[in-house]
Amino acid sequence: DSRVRAAGAVLRIDLNALVENYRILQRQTGAAEVGAVVKADAYGLGAIPVADALAGAGCRHFFVAHLGEAIALRDGLDGGQPIYVLNGLQPGAEAVAAAAGVVPVLNSLDQMARWAAQAREHGAVLPAVLQVDSGMGRLGLSPEETDQLVAEPDRLEGIALQLVMSHLACGDTPDAEANAQQYARFTDLASRFPGVRRSLDNSGGAFLGRNHFDLVRAGIALYGGAPHVGRPNPMRAVVSLDAHIIQVRDLPAGAGVGYGLTSVAEAPRRIATIGVGYADGWPRCVSNRGSAYIGGRRVPVAGRVSMDSMTLDVTGIEENLLQPGAPVELLGPHQGIDHAAADADTIAYEILTQLGARYARDYL
Ligand code: PLP
Repeated sequence: DSRVRAAGAVLRIDLNALVENYRILQRQTGAAEVGAVVKADAYGLGAIPVADALAGAGCRHFFVAHLGEAIALRDGLDGGQPIYVLNGLQPGAEAVAAAAGVVPVLNSLDQMARWAAQAREHGAVLPAVLQVDSGMGRLGLSPEETDQLVAEPDRLEGIALQLVMSHLACGDTPDAEANAQQYARFTDLASRFPGVRRSLDNSGGAFLGRNHFDLVRAGIALYGGAPHVGRPNPMRAVVSLDAHIIQVRDLPAGAGVGYGLTSVAEAPRRIATIGVGYADGWPRCVSNRGSAYIGGRRVPVAGRVSMDSMTLDVTGIEENLLQPGAPVELLGPHQGIDHAAADADTIAYEILTQLGARYARDYL
Protein backbone atom coordinates (compact mmCIF):
# COMPACT_ATOMS: atom_id res chain seq x y z
CA ASP A 1 0.00 0.00 0.00
CA SER A 2 2.77 2.46 0.80
CA ARG A 3 4.31 1.72 -2.60
CA VAL A 4 1.01 2.48 -4.27
CA ARG A 5 0.77 5.69 -2.30
CA ALA A 6 4.25 6.69 -3.40
CA ALA A 7 3.01 6.49 -6.98
CA GLY A 8 0.67 9.32 -6.20
CA ALA A 9 -3.00 8.94 -6.97
CA VAL A 10 -5.14 8.23 -3.93
CA LEU A 11 -8.91 7.81 -3.98
CA ARG A 12 -10.37 9.83 -1.10
CA ILE A 13 -13.64 8.59 0.32
CA ASP A 14 -15.58 10.84 2.65
CA LEU A 15 -17.44 8.51 5.03
CA ASN A 16 -19.20 11.45 6.69
CA ALA A 17 -20.69 12.39 3.33
CA LEU A 18 -21.68 8.74 2.83
CA VAL A 19 -23.51 8.73 6.16
CA GLU A 20 -25.12 12.07 5.33
CA ASN A 21 -26.39 10.54 2.07
CA TYR A 22 -27.83 7.62 4.03
CA ARG A 23 -29.72 10.14 6.19
CA ILE A 24 -30.93 12.09 3.15
CA LEU A 25 -32.31 8.83 1.71
CA GLN A 26 -33.86 7.92 5.04
CA ARG A 27 -35.63 11.30 5.22
CA GLN A 28 -36.75 10.90 1.63
CA THR A 29 -38.35 7.51 2.17
CA GLY A 30 -40.07 8.09 5.48
CA ALA A 31 -41.12 4.95 7.28
CA ALA A 32 -39.31 2.61 4.90
CA GLU A 33 -35.87 1.39 5.93
CA VAL A 34 -32.85 2.16 3.76
CA GLY A 35 -30.63 -0.83 2.99
CA ALA A 36 -27.22 -0.44 1.36
CA VAL A 37 -26.15 -2.04 -1.89
CA VAL A 38 -22.44 -2.75 -1.38
CA LYS A 39 -21.83 -5.13 -4.28
CA ALA A 40 -18.67 -4.77 -6.39
CA ASP A 41 -16.78 -3.74 -3.26
CA ALA A 42 -19.30 -0.97 -2.56
CA TYR A 43 -19.06 0.29 -6.16
CA GLY A 44 -15.28 0.33 -5.77
CA LEU A 45 -15.16 2.26 -2.52
CA GLY A 46 -14.47 -0.65 -0.13
CA ALA A 47 -17.37 -2.82 1.07
CA ILE A 48 -16.20 -3.24 4.63
CA PRO A 49 -15.37 0.38 5.54
CA VAL A 50 -18.52 1.53 3.74
CA ALA A 51 -20.75 -1.06 5.43
CA ASP A 52 -19.14 -0.35 8.81
CA ALA A 53 -19.81 3.37 8.52
CA LEU A 54 -23.41 2.78 7.44
CA ALA A 55 -24.03 0.18 10.15
CA GLY A 56 -22.78 2.77 12.64
CA ALA A 57 -25.46 5.13 11.32
CA GLY A 58 -28.17 2.50 11.81
CA CYS A 59 -28.27 0.71 8.45
CA ARG A 60 -29.42 -2.88 9.02
CA HIS A 61 -29.53 -4.48 5.56
CA PHE A 62 -26.70 -5.08 3.09
CA PHE A 63 -26.95 -6.32 -0.49
CA VAL A 64 -24.15 -7.81 -2.58
CA ALA A 65 -24.19 -9.57 -5.97
CA HIS A 66 -22.15 -12.71 -5.37
CA LEU A 67 -21.86 -15.30 -2.64
CA GLY A 68 -18.10 -14.65 -2.34
CA GLU A 69 -18.79 -10.97 -1.66
CA ALA A 70 -21.35 -11.94 0.96
CA ILE A 71 -18.94 -14.24 2.77
CA ALA A 72 -16.19 -11.61 2.78
CA LEU A 73 -18.62 -9.05 4.18
CA ARG A 74 -20.00 -11.51 6.74
CA ASP A 75 -16.44 -12.03 7.99
CA GLY A 76 -15.69 -8.31 8.05
CA LEU A 77 -18.88 -6.86 9.52
CA ASP A 78 -19.46 -7.20 13.24
CA GLY A 79 -23.14 -6.55 13.77
CA GLY A 80 -24.66 -9.73 12.28
CA GLN A 81 -26.90 -7.71 9.94
CA PRO A 82 -28.47 -9.75 7.12
CA ILE A 83 -26.43 -9.89 3.93
CA TYR A 84 -28.47 -10.61 0.80
CA VAL A 85 -27.01 -12.14 -2.37
CA LEU A 86 -28.79 -10.48 -5.29
CA ASN A 87 -27.62 -12.87 -8.02
CA GLY A 88 -29.01 -15.75 -6.01
CA LEU A 89 -27.73 -19.30 -5.70
CA GLN A 90 -25.49 -20.90 -8.27
CA PRO A 91 -26.08 -24.66 -8.44
CA GLY A 92 -23.83 -26.33 -5.89
CA ALA A 93 -23.42 -23.22 -3.72
CA GLU A 94 -26.31 -24.04 -1.35
CA ALA A 95 -24.28 -25.65 1.45
CA VAL A 96 -21.70 -22.85 1.45
CA ALA A 97 -24.41 -20.21 1.52
CA ALA A 98 -26.25 -21.93 4.36
CA ALA A 99 -23.07 -22.39 6.39
CA ALA A 100 -22.15 -18.73 5.90
CA GLY A 101 -25.54 -17.62 7.15
CA VAL A 102 -26.18 -15.31 4.22
CA VAL A 103 -29.56 -14.72 2.60
CA PRO A 104 -29.91 -15.63 -1.08
CA VAL A 105 -32.33 -13.83 -3.33
CA LEU A 106 -34.28 -16.66 -4.98
CA ASN A 107 -34.72 -15.63 -8.58
CA SER A 108 -36.28 -18.82 -9.94
CA LEU A 109 -38.35 -21.81 -8.83
CA ASP A 110 -35.25 -23.91 -9.44
CA GLN A 111 -33.18 -21.85 -6.97
CA MET A 112 -36.07 -22.14 -4.53
CA ALA A 113 -36.18 -25.95 -4.89
CA ARG A 114 -32.46 -26.21 -4.20
CA TRP A 115 -32.66 -23.93 -1.15
CA ALA A 116 -35.65 -25.88 0.20
CA ALA A 117 -33.73 -29.16 -0.32
CA GLN A 118 -30.80 -27.66 1.60
CA ALA A 119 -33.16 -26.76 4.45
CA ARG A 120 -34.63 -30.29 4.49
CA GLU A 121 -31.23 -31.89 4.51
CA HIS A 122 -30.25 -29.94 7.61
CA GLY A 123 -33.61 -29.98 9.29
CA ALA A 124 -33.35 -26.20 9.48
CA VAL A 125 -35.37 -23.23 8.35
CA LEU A 126 -33.32 -21.06 5.98
CA PRO A 127 -33.95 -17.38 5.27
CA ALA A 128 -34.40 -16.12 1.73
CA VAL A 129 -35.65 -13.22 -0.37
CA LEU A 130 -38.05 -13.86 -3.23
CA GLN A 131 -37.53 -11.80 -6.35
CA VAL A 132 -40.44 -11.32 -8.73
CA ASP A 133 -40.05 -9.77 -12.18
CA SER A 134 -42.27 -6.71 -12.27
CA GLY A 135 -41.16 -5.73 -15.76
CA MET A 136 -37.39 -5.41 -16.03
CA GLY A 137 -37.04 -8.86 -17.57
CA ARG A 138 -33.71 -9.61 -15.91
CA LEU A 139 -34.16 -11.75 -12.81
CA GLY A 140 -37.01 -13.09 -10.71
CA LEU A 141 -40.17 -15.18 -11.05
CA SER A 142 -42.45 -14.26 -13.92
CA PRO A 143 -46.08 -13.47 -13.02
CA GLU A 144 -47.00 -17.02 -14.18
CA GLU A 145 -44.32 -18.59 -11.97
CA THR A 146 -45.52 -16.43 -9.11
CA ASP A 147 -49.04 -17.81 -9.61
CA GLN A 148 -47.60 -21.30 -9.67
CA LEU A 149 -45.81 -20.68 -6.38
CA VAL A 150 -48.95 -19.32 -4.76
CA ALA A 151 -50.82 -22.43 -5.93
CA GLU A 152 -48.09 -24.72 -4.60
CA PRO A 153 -47.00 -23.16 -1.30
CA ASP A 154 -45.15 -26.35 -0.30
CA ARG A 155 -42.36 -25.11 -2.52
CA LEU A 156 -41.52 -22.70 0.30
CA GLU A 157 -41.34 -25.38 2.98
CA GLY A 158 -38.24 -24.86 5.10
CA ILE A 159 -37.77 -21.35 3.72
CA ALA A 160 -38.43 -18.26 5.82
CA LEU A 161 -39.20 -15.43 3.41
CA GLN A 162 -37.67 -12.22 4.72
CA LEU A 163 -38.62 -10.05 1.80
CA VAL A 164 -40.27 -10.02 -1.58
CA MET A 165 -38.43 -7.73 -3.98
CA SER A 166 -38.23 -6.55 -7.56
CA HIS A 167 -36.00 -4.12 -9.44
CA LEU A 168 -36.84 -1.00 -11.46
CA ALA A 169 -35.66 -0.76 -15.05
CA CYS A 170 -36.13 3.03 -15.28
CA GLY A 171 -35.88 4.30 -11.69
CA ASP A 172 -33.36 6.94 -12.81
CA THR A 173 -35.84 8.39 -15.33
CA PRO A 174 -38.84 9.98 -13.59
CA ASP A 175 -40.76 10.47 -16.85
CA ALA A 176 -40.56 6.83 -17.91
CA GLU A 177 -43.97 5.22 -18.24
CA ALA A 178 -42.52 1.89 -17.19
CA ASN A 179 -42.27 3.15 -13.59
CA ALA A 180 -46.04 3.34 -13.00
CA GLN A 181 -46.42 -0.12 -14.53
CA GLN A 182 -43.69 -1.63 -12.39
CA TYR A 183 -45.06 -0.15 -9.14
CA ALA A 184 -48.54 -1.45 -9.98
CA ARG A 185 -47.35 -4.89 -11.00
CA PHE A 186 -45.08 -5.21 -7.96
CA THR A 187 -47.90 -4.15 -5.62
CA ASP A 188 -50.06 -6.87 -7.13
CA LEU A 189 -47.40 -9.61 -7.12
CA ALA A 190 -46.25 -8.82 -3.58
CA SER A 191 -49.84 -8.92 -2.30
CA ARG A 192 -49.76 -12.69 -2.90
CA PHE A 193 -47.36 -12.96 0.03
CA PRO A 194 -49.23 -11.26 2.87
CA GLY A 195 -47.12 -10.31 5.86
CA VAL A 196 -43.82 -10.49 3.94
CA ARG A 197 -41.88 -7.21 3.78
CA ARG A 198 -41.51 -5.61 0.35
CA SER A 199 -38.67 -3.86 -1.48
CA LEU A 200 -38.75 -2.19 -4.90
CA ASP A 201 -36.89 1.15 -4.85
CA ASN A 202 -33.26 1.65 -5.79
CA SER A 203 -31.69 5.12 -5.52
CA GLY A 204 -33.76 6.52 -8.36
CA GLY A 205 -36.93 4.94 -7.01
CA ALA A 206 -36.37 6.59 -3.65
CA PHE A 207 -36.86 9.99 -5.36
CA LEU A 208 -39.89 9.11 -7.50
CA GLY A 209 -42.35 10.02 -4.76
CA ARG A 210 -44.18 6.71 -5.02
CA ASN A 211 -44.67 3.88 -2.54
CA HIS A 212 -41.34 3.07 -0.88
CA PHE A 213 -42.77 -0.15 0.57
CA ASP A 214 -40.73 -1.46 3.53
CA LEU A 215 -37.11 -1.39 2.39
CA VAL A 216 -35.19 0.67 -0.15
CA ARG A 217 -32.05 -0.79 -1.74
CA ALA A 218 -29.77 2.20 -2.32
CA GLY A 219 -26.43 2.14 -4.07
CA ILE A 220 -25.30 5.02 -6.25
CA ALA A 221 -26.99 7.78 -4.22
CA LEU A 222 -25.12 6.67 -1.10
CA TYR A 223 -21.91 7.14 -3.08
CA GLY A 224 -22.87 10.61 -4.26
CA GLY A 225 -24.26 9.82 -7.71
CA ALA A 226 -27.36 11.61 -9.00
CA PRO A 227 -30.47 9.46 -8.45
CA HIS A 228 -32.05 10.84 -11.63
CA VAL A 229 -30.13 11.28 -14.87
CA GLY A 230 -29.59 14.91 -15.80
CA ARG A 231 -31.53 16.32 -12.82
CA PRO A 232 -30.16 18.33 -9.87
CA ASN A 233 -28.31 16.04 -7.52
CA PRO A 234 -29.40 16.23 -3.85
CA MET A 235 -26.59 13.94 -2.66
CA ARG A 236 -23.22 14.93 -1.22
CA ALA A 237 -20.04 14.08 -3.10
CA VAL A 238 -18.24 11.14 -1.50
CA VAL A 239 -15.28 10.50 -3.80
CA SER A 240 -12.36 12.61 -4.94
CA LEU A 241 -9.29 11.70 -6.96
CA ASP A 242 -6.17 13.73 -7.65
CA ALA A 243 -3.58 12.68 -10.20
CA HIS A 244 -0.12 14.24 -10.18
CA ILE A 245 1.98 15.97 -12.77
CA ILE A 246 4.90 13.92 -14.05
CA GLN A 247 6.31 16.39 -16.56
CA VAL A 248 5.46 19.62 -18.36
CA ARG A 249 6.68 20.54 -21.84
CA ASP A 250 6.18 23.31 -24.37
CA LEU A 251 5.18 22.18 -27.83
CA PRO A 252 5.62 24.41 -30.88
CA ALA A 253 2.81 25.23 -33.28
CA GLY A 254 1.97 22.25 -35.47
CA ALA A 255 3.33 19.60 -33.09
CA GLY A 256 1.10 16.66 -32.22
CA VAL A 257 0.78 14.90 -28.88
CA GLY A 258 0.14 11.29 -27.82
CA TYR A 259 -0.56 8.08 -29.73
CA GLY A 260 -1.59 8.73 -33.30
CA LEU A 261 -0.73 12.43 -32.87
CA THR A 262 -4.47 13.04 -32.86
CA SER A 263 -4.15 16.44 -31.21
CA VAL A 264 -2.30 19.10 -33.17
CA ALA A 265 -2.54 22.79 -32.27
CA GLU A 266 -2.06 25.78 -34.54
CA ALA A 267 -0.42 27.78 -31.77
CA PRO A 268 2.35 26.86 -29.32
CA ARG A 269 0.97 25.19 -26.20
CA ARG A 270 2.03 23.75 -22.88
CA ILE A 271 1.33 20.10 -22.17
CA ALA A 272 1.33 18.44 -18.73
CA THR A 273 1.54 14.67 -18.48
CA ILE A 274 -0.17 13.12 -15.46
CA GLY A 275 0.24 9.62 -14.10
CA VAL A 276 -3.25 8.22 -14.59
CA GLY A 277 -4.38 6.39 -17.72
CA TYR A 278 -6.89 3.81 -18.86
CA ALA A 279 -5.18 0.99 -16.94
CA ASP A 280 -5.91 3.07 -13.85
CA GLY A 281 -9.57 3.09 -14.74
CA TRP A 282 -9.77 6.49 -16.44
CA PRO A 283 -11.78 5.87 -19.61
CA ARG A 284 -9.80 5.99 -22.85
CA CYS A 285 -12.82 7.32 -24.71
CA VAL A 286 -12.31 10.77 -23.14
CA SER A 287 -9.26 11.18 -25.40
CA ASN A 288 -9.37 14.74 -26.81
CA ARG A 289 -12.65 15.53 -25.04
CA GLY A 290 -12.41 14.96 -21.30
CA SER A 291 -11.22 17.39 -18.65
CA ALA A 292 -9.17 17.73 -15.53
CA TYR A 293 -8.91 20.75 -13.23
CA ILE A 294 -5.86 22.59 -11.93
CA GLY A 295 -6.38 25.31 -9.37
CA GLY A 296 -10.07 25.13 -10.23
CA ARG A 297 -9.47 25.82 -13.93
CA ARG A 298 -10.43 23.39 -16.64
CA VAL A 299 -7.56 21.81 -18.55
CA PRO A 300 -8.69 19.70 -21.53
CA VAL A 301 -7.35 16.25 -22.31
CA ALA A 302 -5.11 16.74 -25.36
CA GLY A 303 -4.47 13.61 -27.41
CA ARG A 304 -5.30 10.02 -26.56
CA VAL A 305 -5.39 8.70 -23.03
CA SER A 306 -2.44 6.28 -22.65
CA MET A 307 -2.30 3.16 -20.50
CA ASP A 308 -0.85 4.84 -17.43
CA SER A 309 -0.67 8.51 -18.31
CA MET A 310 -2.50 11.20 -20.18
CA THR A 311 -1.69 14.63 -21.55
CA LEU A 312 -3.48 17.85 -20.71
CA ASP A 313 -3.34 21.24 -22.38
CA VAL A 314 -2.27 23.50 -19.51
CA THR A 315 -1.49 26.59 -21.59
CA GLY A 316 -2.00 29.67 -19.42
CA ILE A 317 -1.97 27.88 -16.07
CA GLU A 318 0.31 29.49 -13.46
CA GLU A 319 3.81 28.04 -13.30
CA ASN A 320 3.63 27.27 -9.58
CA LEU A 321 0.68 24.91 -10.16
CA LEU A 322 2.60 22.93 -12.77
CA GLN A 323 5.52 21.60 -10.77
CA PRO A 324 6.27 17.86 -10.91
CA GLY A 325 4.09 16.19 -8.28
CA ALA A 326 1.51 18.99 -8.25
CA PRO A 327 -2.07 17.71 -7.89
CA VAL A 328 -4.54 17.62 -10.76
CA GLU A 329 -8.21 17.11 -9.95
CA LEU A 330 -9.85 14.25 -11.84
CA LEU A 331 -12.75 13.89 -9.41
CA GLY A 332 -13.58 16.58 -6.90
CA PRO A 333 -15.47 19.83 -6.49
CA HIS A 334 -15.14 20.84 -10.16
CA GLN A 335 -15.70 17.44 -11.72
CA GLY A 336 -18.06 15.04 -9.98
CA ILE A 337 -18.62 11.40 -10.88
CA ASP A 338 -21.66 12.20 -13.03
CA HIS A 339 -19.72 14.85 -14.96
CA ALA A 340 -16.83 12.46 -15.59
CA ALA A 341 -19.32 9.79 -16.63
CA ALA A 342 -21.10 12.11 -19.08
CA ASP A 343 -17.76 12.97 -20.73
CA ALA A 344 -17.14 9.26 -21.17
CA ASP A 345 -20.67 8.53 -22.41
CA THR A 346 -21.27 6.22 -19.51
CA ILE A 347 -22.78 6.20 -16.02
CA ALA A 348 -21.22 7.07 -12.65
CA TYR A 349 -21.48 3.40 -11.64
CA GLU A 350 -18.96 2.43 -14.30
CA ILE A 351 -16.55 5.25 -13.46
CA LEU A 352 -16.55 4.27 -9.78
CA THR A 353 -16.23 0.52 -10.26
CA GLN A 354 -13.39 0.95 -12.77
CA LEU A 355 -11.43 3.26 -10.50
CA GLY A 356 -12.03 1.52 -7.23
CA ALA A 357 -9.75 -1.47 -7.52
CA ARG A 358 -6.66 0.39 -8.57
CA TYR A 359 -5.94 3.02 -5.98
CA ALA A 360 -4.83 3.31 -2.44
CA ARG A 361 -7.85 4.64 -0.56
CA ASP A 362 -7.98 7.28 2.12
CA TYR A 363 -11.09 7.32 4.26
CA LEU A 364 -11.98 10.71 5.69
N1 PLP B 1 -31.13 -3.46 -6.30
C1 PLP B 1 -30.62 -4.25 -7.26
C2 PLP B 1 -31.26 -5.56 -7.53
C3 PLP B 1 -29.52 -3.83 -8.00
O1 PLP B 1 -29.00 -4.61 -8.96
C4 PLP B 1 -28.93 -2.56 -7.70
C5 PLP B 1 -27.77 -2.08 -8.44
O2 PLP B 1 -27.67 -2.06 -9.61
C6 PLP B 1 -29.50 -1.77 -6.70
C7 PLP B 1 -30.60 -2.25 -6.01
C8 PLP B 1 -28.97 -0.41 -6.38
O3 PLP B 1 -29.18 0.46 -7.44
P1 PLP B 1 -28.72 1.99 -7.36
O4 PLP B 1 -27.23 1.95 -7.31
O5 PLP B 1 -29.22 2.56 -8.62
O6 PLP B 1 -29.31 2.56 -6.13
